[in-house]
Amino acid sequence: MFKKVLIANRGEIALRILRACKELGISTVAVHSTADADAMHVRLADESVCIGPASATHSYLNIPSILAACEITGAEAVHPGYGFLSENARFARILEEHNITFIGPSAHHIEIMGDKIQAKKTAKELGIPVVPGSEGGVTSDVEARKIAAEIGYPVIIKAASGGGGRGMKVANSEADIGNALSTARSEAKAAFGDDAVYIEKYLAKPRHIEIQVLGDGKGGAIHLGDRDCSLQRRHQKVWEEATSPAVTPEQRAEIGGVVADAIAKMKYSGAGTIEFLYEDGEFYFIEMNTRLQVEHPVTERITNMDLVYEQIQIAAGQPISVKQEDVTFWGHAIEVRINAEDPETFAPSPGRISFYHPAGGVGVRVDSGVYQGYKIPPYYDSLIGKLIVHGRTREECLQRLRRALGEFVVDGVKTTLPLFRRLIEEEAVITGNYDIHWLEKYLGMKK
Ligand code: ADP
Repeated sequence: MFKKVLIANRGEIALRILRACKELGISTVAVHSTADADAMHVRLADESVCIGPASATHSYLNIPSILAACEITGAEAVHPGYGFLSENARFARILEEHNITFIGPSAHHIEIMGDKIQAKKTAKELGIPVVPGSEGGVTSDVEARKIAAEIGYPVIIKAASGGGGRGMKVANSEADIGNALSTARSEAKAAFGDDAVYIEKYLAKPRHIEIQVLGDGKGGAIHLGDRDCSLQRRHQKVWEEATSPAVTPEQRAEIGGVVADAIAKMKYSGAGTIEFLYEDGEFYFIEMNTRLQVEHPVTERITNMDLVYEQIQIAAGQPISVKQEDVTFWGHAIEVRINAEDPETFAPSPGRISFYHPAGGVGVRVDSGVYQGYKIPPYYDSLIGKLIVHGRTREECLQRLRRALGEFVVDGVKTTLPLFRRLIEEEAVITGNYDIHWLEKYLGMKK
């Protein structure tokens, strides 16, 4: 087992990783920007290294600085968390060249799955059902119109290097194609430095359902069931549940089996998520994330597992700690993302937290790096914490979430907590009868 791990991230996830390391008896190195000198993960780490100024490009994304921090401290492995360098194949490769373990899959797998055209192709070859669409990239209007006519309108044009819900354009008819193609390409070029795009059928009322997997890198893999992340705003998840209220145990076992087999065949190593759109009882692959996800705690809660522990064990060459037949899904879990944002306009709300009282009690978990008096810097994403609740049934889980939301106090900045207090009283949320468009319609963003 590693003696020392460097955590190349910040915020709640840095603290989450630190906790797993402590429980494994691994000493921790925190890296931080000048803006994060007061962060909780920096305070709790055994060692810390300042890697640059506030701007993420010059700190959390700065590969030479992080490498230097590994060398100064003698860290043997790096956990990248999510975001930042977590899906950067070059980073994984550079660490490997320096004999430092990247706690995640191989650079090769990150690369394949990072290109969504290649990812879709690979998924299809491995027997995973995909959204109908172009076989590869699409460059001309003529080609785009031909493919769209074959699959039927509406269609969506998506960036091959896309992420964070950016670089997607819907075309409702042939007349929209020219415009959608050129805007998607120029947006993709501006955001990702790559104008490659592809086309797929635009599903009208799908749910976003994803399967958590663990691969041992040697041809063994298991799935840990599904998460329903259909409550989204601007293609970004806001509320996540495990298991999905729309999926039966039989469907879960079936799609989980297909996915686990594919991951095993790939000899994938570590944690990963296969994302699907789900409509009328069918699953359609959209992408794979080759890292730990923000919403991983709902899976941990219903499976009684620690995914960061598993990631570290696998990276150290140990087997996955459970077999598929030992994985059971117990009760129901919901996570809500507490962002420092105006709950109506979603404008960021950085600043000092004047009073902080997290919820507690039976079935409640709070993953957050903030504390009373902490000043939320304006430079990074607005996620300040996650409230995760568990119940024996979905009803009990909702009741517990309602209770926990009533207790949670964050003063001094605006947060999304009031939004969740409203959502939990909505019929569609209570019955679990929502699709990926429901939240935006509810918020008045779509007619
Ligand atoms: P990103 O990598 O930017 O997150 P994804 O491919 O994972 O992009 O898609 C993000 C979200 O966009 C999905 O959860 C869904 O809400 C919407 N979306 C993507 N593809 C389609 C599609 N073919 N039809 C309808 N909605 C889609």
